[in-house]
Amino acid sequence: MLRAALDILLPRHCPVSRRPLLADEPGPVAPEVLRAMAVCGPDYCSRCGAPQGPGVGVVAACDSCRAARDGFGTTEITAVGRYTEPMRSMCKAMKFGNARDIARPLAAYLTQLLMDRGVAQQVDVVVPMPLHVLRRFERGYNQAELLAAPIARALAKPLLANAMRRTRGTERQARLSPLERRRNVDGVFVVRPAFVGTIAETSVLLVDDVMTTGSTFAAAAQALKTAGAKAVYGAIAARAALDDE
Ligand SMILES: [Zn+2]
Repeated sequence: MLRAALDILLPRHCPVSRRPLLADEPGPVAPEVLRAMAVCGPDYCSRCGAPQGPGVGVVAACDSCRAARDGFGTTEITAVGRYTEPMRSMCKAMKFGNARDIARPLAAYLTQLLMDRGVAQQVDVVVPMPLHVLRRFERGYNQAELLAAPIARALAKPLLANAMRRTRGTERQARLSPLERRRNVDGVFVVRPAFVGTIAETSVLLVDDVMTTGSTFAAAAQALKTAGAKAVYGAIAARAALDDE
């Protein structure tokens, strides 16, 4: 009743479709938007998380992973789906539109996939991909942490939100060549000294919103391994192909 009253006074809108939400719709996103998402089913690439065509099953490396050759320093990456509409609008609203609530359904999907695939049982701690401190300040939040926090809660694993630090801002990766990408992120992540003891000998679930080339992911996984992590698993909302941008 309170919500119905609030909906009249302050109508809630779906941040993606912009339509007003009905009183019995929990939000934050309209249900038809969630249904339109290309959610990952039983067919996916375990290296990068990308959904594969129906009937393909689980592949160890999809075409783009084989083209990239070197992995991402991760044992397995789980993605909710591909970076196409409406996922793209959801990720952008979460990142730039201050629509923090969008993290909730995405984190719920990810948690379910992590449990279904047995990854949940493999990981000991949850670490969000860090933003550079200036970016974090400007945005007021880290969208990777918005996803990581409910996942950690649902899996009953410690959330180490400050375990890693980004030493500098980086250029957008998608426009760079593979070599430039690696140089761009080389040494950009470090595990804070206070967390090295906590990270050592653990399996880490590294969480981010979108993964495109995977070089950022690889650099962060490397930093965790340098700190002694025995394995790094990835969880991302969306796996983007280079031409999805
Ligand atoms: Zn792949």
